[in-house]
Amino acid sequence: MEKTEGEVLKEKLFNEKKSGWNDLSEEDTRQVFRFADEYMFYLNQAKTEKEIVHFSKEILLKNDFKDLNEVSTLNPGDKVFWVNRNRSLYIAVIGKEKMSDGVKIVAAHGDSPRIDLKQNPLYEEGEIGLLKTHYYGGIKKYQWATVPLSMHGIVAKTNGERVNVTIGESEKDPVFYITDLPPHLSRGIQDERKLAEGITGEELNIVAGTIPYYDKKISERVKLNILKILNEKYGIKEVDFTSSELEFVPSYKARSVGFDESLVGAYGQDDKVCCYTSLRAILDAQNPVKTSICVLTDKEEIGFCGVTGMESHSFERFMIELLEKSGENMPGMLEKVYSNSNAISADVDAGYDPTFTVAFDSINASRLGHGVCICKYTGARGKSSASEAPAEFVANIRRIFDDNNVAYCSSELGKVDKGGGGTIAVTLANRGIDTLDIGIPVLSMHSPYELTSKFDVYDAFRAYRAFFND
Ligand code: MN
Ligand code: MN
Repeated sequence: MEKTEGEVLKEKLFNEKKSGWNDLSEEDTRQVFRFADEYMFYLNQAKTEKEIVHFSKEILLKNDFKDLNEVSTLNPGDKVFWVNRNRSLYIAVIGKEKMSDGVKIVAAHGDSPRIDLKQNPLYEEGEIGLLKTHYYGGIKKYQWATVPLSMHGIVAKTNGERVNVTIGESEKDPVFYITDLPPHLSRGIQDERKLAEGITGEELNIVAGTIPYYDKKISERVKLNILKILNEKYGIKEVDFTSSELEFVPSYKARSVGFDESLVGAYGQDDKVCCYTSLRAILDAQNPVKTSICVLTDKEEIGFCGVTGMESHSFERFMIELLEKSGENMPGMLEKVYSNSNAISADVDAGYDPTFTVAFDSINASRLGHGVCICKYTGARGKSSASEAPAEFVANIRRIFDDNNVAYCSSELGKVDKGGGGTIAVTLANRGIDTLDIGIPVLSMHSPYELTSKFDVYDAFRAYRAFFND
């Protein structure tokens, strides 16, 4: 049947919002699922920022990328990376044009909300050995009790030794646990608290053991027994916690979710989903026109700060070294590079959740399965602290996506007076780089188990690849 005039006009003028699954061919669907399997494998290898750097570096080495420290000159097509203190990773594929004509940056973050140990964590009470913690990033604390946790991290010793510890990932390993009151006891104590205080920061104590050391003459026998085990296994003493970074994350593995297996459930998808998709994208940046740069940064969840966060001048050190080794460096050159450059701040967004519609502006919220979401501005209540991308730059990105058949939707994090948030877009834009937030929608963001759409994961990879190769 022929379309009516109205139907034709509507098709032409409306921004039709539709799920990317709608018109996917069988071959494309297979491709989406294959990519998701590889993504889930990556998630299971890398749950912390240090593991993201370690495992991503292995992938780079397998794909002929070289450590920038071992390269003296750079030419178009060269592929290099630089590791900053094992916590953030900067990757580049040198373009045909000079860097002073601008580079393309996709920056994601490898850290995710989690539970860190305090510096003096171990104590004993009620014949139970416990660990005091300080949570990292914005979490709903009650979600972290009664889930199996694994411990990842390092203990740095005064003799320069760095002890790596991972407990709870193998099926044979024990896991760790934060307790909660049973419903039988919580009335009058916990039930009346506000949800945000259901479990307080000081109640996030991790159960670490219960067997006492055999010598009954001493006090704190359970604590001593735990220290004895740690000393035998890792050669550490209590004071070594002072210089440790021990991070507790859910021990769950990434799994497909739903009857149709269309979703990924996993810890830390904010922002490991953008780490993986941007990493895969730069592997495909073959002889790009402009130098392609991928950053897997740290400390985003606590404000982009520190020596390994996106605000750190460590990024400038990397950029200057690229300029130097390309024979382009001179005073003020980096500022020129920045002013001609484009960046994508690759980070997730809170997708529309039909169970909690009250939190969203349904017209502007990003949707699972609609592809990458373009967030022109972040910030909160009056765009406060947003870097807001210029419309012209957004148009340029739309053109790249249209040319490459990348699905995208726009996004706004929650209702105007309620929602909001920030990303590293701000720190990139402050450097004079045109920057736009492009990520994918996540449900239950910052929870121990987050949800994404496999369609969006693959679409993000295609989006970042199209950006690099344009
Ligand atoms: Mn994030
Ligand atoms: Mn986050």
